[in-house]
Amino acid sequence: MDPKIENLLKNLKKRNIAGFYCNRKEEATGNILKIIPLTASVGICGSQTLDQLNVVKLLEVRGSKVFNQYKPGISRQENLELRMNGAQADYYLASANAISRNGELVFFSAYGNRTSGISCAKNLIVVCGINKITPNIEEAMKRARGYVTPLNCKRLNWNTPCFKDGICRENICFSPDYKRMCCQLLIIESEVDPQRIKVILVGEPLGF
Ligand code: SF4
Repeated sequence: MDPKIENLLKNLKKRNIAGFYCNRKEEATGNILKIIPLTASVGICGSQTLDQLNVVKLLEVRGSKVFNQYKPGISRQENLELRMNGAQADYYLASANAISRNGELVFFSAYGNRTSGISCAKNLIVVCGINKITPNIEEAMKRARGYVTPLNCKRLNWNTPCFKDGICRENICFSPDYKRMCCQLLIIESEVDPQRIKVILVGEPLGF
């Protein structure tokens, strides 16, 4: 294993966060399916990484209760209820926007269901491709706002100042002129319960 990954896993442990390493995304998917009991409920957030792992579909196929707000054909009200229930599920699945080599995890959220699930779910599993590892927390924050959010705004067609050129102009990014995407910022620096958070690092690029 790359010594930098080994060091990151040690730094996570110091923060009371369990870290695992998988070479490939298929291995990560298999581990998630093993960790989450069949009878447990699962909340999810929108994530290219989770899409690439195909893990939500596999959980649903095996019969797990997934609060999936992305199910086609549901109403706005159903979508909101699924988000709220998902944030309180037995397990919450997410990917970080960035993770520092010191083990700090950075998450941005528009509506707050994501930051709420990450903070409050009984168990949290965070999957991160190696492309999301940054040298320090400052670079992690820069990555989340200066790189990830503009790409997400583009992908989801959000009216933001960064939509066209990818440059953040946070000082003017407010309603009603714009629909700001990075409204809530969460940094996990440590965890009280050593069983609650599991971070799965994957040795290939996932998401962006
Ligand atoms: S604050 Fe606004 S302009 Fe800056 S990255 Fe977030 S959504 Fe884009």
